[in-house]
Amino acid sequence: MTKPLVLVVEDEAPLVTMLRYNLEKEGFQVCEASDGEEALVQIAERKPDLVLLDWMLPLVSGIEVCRRIRRSPETRSLPVVILTARGEETDRVRGLDSGADDYVVKPFSPSELVARLRAVMRRAQPNATQNVLQFADVEVDTVAHRVSRGGKSIHLGPTEFRLLRYLIAHPGRVFSREQLLDAVWGHDVYVEARTVDVHIRRLRKALNSDDAVDVVRTVRSAGYALDHPMR
Ligand code: CA
Repeated sequence: MTKPLVLVVEDEAPLVTMLRYNLEKEGFQVCEASDGEEALVQIAERKPDLVLLDWMLPLVSGIEVCRRIRRSPETRSLPVVILTARGEETDRVRGLDSGADDYVVKPFSPSELVARLRAVMRRAQPNATQNVLQFADVEVDTVAHRVSRGGKSIHLGPTEFRLLRYLIAHPGRVFSREQLLDAVWGHDVYVEARTVDVHIRRLRKALNSDDAVDVVRTVRSAGYALDHPMR
């Protein structure tokens, strides 16, 4: 099995050296970019399996790099983990809103970082045993990783895709944030419950474009379901 390639996008050289050392020790291959423009070139040329992206970068910010990754059809599903020195909740949520799969706050332990990267990559693996799931006019092709509503293609980030895939497999059933965290993010990763709200918001926004009726039901203090809308 080939070693997964991680693109480290970071402008602080000592941190890059530390990351390279720890990632290579854990069986990853590493390539580097020290600014956002270079990161986009490296992504196109090297096709990494995951991008570890610093928030504070010269020229093009990490958030903007993440947005561009999500906008391009070729890199839409590329796992992105944001490195941030800031601790403010709003920044974390902004990071997730830009399409990142997870974020790690500096300073971090190498073992925590590696666990997060492994979890994100595991979740990004397509499950080839299922095929097309349907609910109302929403269709999820779990093999091709395509989503459509009313026959029109919908672009989702990797986390929203997994969230929808889980919800659509159990239509009408209400899941708590904790249940969704376990099913979509995995038991071994600590993610705050409100992270689920962020991704549900993004999923809802993507599914409900063109003024389509809302098929994501919020059950106050209980959780979320994919359900026929109440009219
Ligand atoms: Ca930086």
